[in-house]
Amino acid sequence: MQNAALREMGLDAVYVAFDVPPRDLPAALFGMPALGIRGANCTIPHKTALVSLTDELTEEAARVGAVNTILFREGRSIGHNTDGEGFLASLRAEGIDPRGLQAVILGTGGSARSVALALQGCGARVVVAGRSLEKAESLALDLNSRLDGVGEPIAAVSMAPEVLAARIAEADLLVNATPVGMHPESHAMPGVPLEAIHGRLFCYDLIYNPAETRLLAEARKRGARTANGAGMLAHQGALSLQMWTGRTAPVEVMERVVRARLAAQGGHADPAPANGRG
Ligand code: NAP
Repeated sequence: MQNAALREMGLDAVYVAFDVPPRDLPAALFGMPALGIRGANCTIPHKTALVSLTDELTEEAARVGAVNTILFREGRSIGHNTDGEGFLASLRAEGIDPRGLQAVILGTGGSARSVALALQGCGARVVVAGRSLEKAESLALDLNSRLDGVGEPIAAVSMAPEVLAARIAEADLLVNATPVGMHPESHAMPGVPLEAIHGRLFCYDLIYNPAETRLLAEARKRGARTANGAGMLAHQGALSLQMWTGRTAPVEVMERVVRARLAAQGGHADPAPANGRG
């Protein structure tokens, strides 16, 4: 995806994957600018460690408490996070304006955090649902402390079927931010009461492998519109590339490459080893 974009932009640059164990992260970060590396993406398990390891954080990375993009500038490393903005861009590309929408997010991990803040920030009413109510409440408490009193506070619920059914019945947007249903466990489904899914719902699964998770298939059968995480993957990658090059990245090319690669390999490819697992 990134290399296709670099070619399209006519840039003499290449995007490569490095497998860095946690103990070597400080050394890798220190050495990258010395090697002439302009920037990097990072994924699990490095996203939170980089908050304290980078020299500076953008406002977004500080707010989310995780880094997925690093820019090296004048010998300093700047940590940024493009997940939330990438999610919003892909949602808008589907024709959805989140302002005023009621959104239910399944999961309380890193991506639930980015997505909840992004949606709340553009005027959606957000509920995070966790299999542990305690984790959901502590996430909502932490996120609400970062809102400066602007917009509706984020609410927390458990994933108990009757609780979730009531929330989904009144929701416009359902986001799966758990790994449940991801290849090779494609038969699995997050505990969503199917009878609660309705035709006004937009169901967004952050998983892109398989292209249609069981959740998306069930939602589609019940008349809901659906999208998988390939759009978010392409958009968050395009925003990283923009940060490194100062130029608009060809996001359509990137998304086409991701989707084509997934389709060619029966939906079971791992299209972006450096950043594709979120
Ligand atoms: P994470 O930080 O590990 O969080 C995962 C969350 O899922 C946790 O809240 C966890 O709950 C919950 N969970 C796990 N198994 C569950 C189950 N059986 N039932 C209910 N909840 C369960 O992971 P993440 O980084 O947020 O990633 C989540 C998913 O989003 C992954 O599939 C990832 O590939 C995808 N993702 C996609 C993109 C993209 O660009 N499309 C970007 C980021 C992430 P506990 O805390 O209770 O364990």
